[in-house]
Amino acid sequence: MHTHHVLVVGIDGVRLDLLPQLDTPHLDGIADAGFLAPVEIDEATPTMSGPCWATIATGVTVAKHGVWGNRLDGNRLDVFPDFTTRLALECGRRTFAAGGWAPLFLAQQGGPLFTAPSRLSFIAPRADTPEGWEEADEAVTAEAAHVLGSGEELHASFVYLGAVDETAHFLGCGEEYRRSIETADQRLGRLLKAVRERPGQPGEQWTVIVVTDHGHRDEGGHGGRSELERTAWVAACGPGLAAGVTPPAVRHTDVAAHVYAALGIGLDAHWTLDGTPFTA
Ligand SMILES: [Zn+2]
Repeated sequence: MHTHHVLVVGIDGVRLDLLPQLDTPHLDGIADAGFLAPVEIDEATPTMSGPCWATIATGVTVAKHGVWGNRLDGNRLDVFPDFTTRLALECGRRTFAAGGWAPLFLAQQGGPLFTAPSRLSFIAPRADTPEGWEEADEAVTAEAAHVLGSGEELHASFVYLGAVDETAHFLGCGEEYRRSIETADQRLGRLLKAVRERPGQPGEQWTVIVVTDHGHRDEGGHGGRSELERTAWVAACGPGLAAGVTPPAVRHTDVAAHVYAALGIGLDAHWTLDGTPFTA
């Protein structure tokens, strides 16, 4: 029986510079128990969701995983799989992935990025609008909280929330965008509560990682190299992460590396990961 568990919550397109002004108690709680650090998207990586989530999920950069845009065609995910797939197929762990953006979870647009998790919940938005995505994120949160709270053995999970990014694309980074970030934080809180109240929880050790893929220009939009677009962030807490100790120069590739390390799995040199655990 494995006592170590990891939850990764991916919130798309959350600007780091706005967080201090916003009411995000659940993210703040993770930062206080561990750290919240900026991530600079490297020069070779387009500041787009497809490549950035691929780097986060695989622990290797675009040169290896080959995801260059929001179509995932031509990728090398067979060689450099996402952590939910590698853990399930090679490491004897049970994994879970949930969200509403098709190429992450379905064989659409060159996907899926999350190829073969043990359990998968895909809930499509009824429309690609801020309202449609808020509904989808709400349903994804309810489903993920149900699954995580059930006590089912799931060692590593990835939950994706997309409404924040959609809101910025439609409405820019104004009031609606800020409220959407606060709503995403409330959803994060429900996922954390589900984990805390798991039937087996007293014997389990949980690492929680929250990560965004890229920022946004003020008017909404990303893909370029401006500081607002290329600044992402990671927050994490759990065993081995001391409160208030921020690792130097956190990268997106470190997320998957830390997931493996947190589960007590040594990084196989043959995986040629580009990241290192936050504790390295
Ligand atoms: Zn994105």
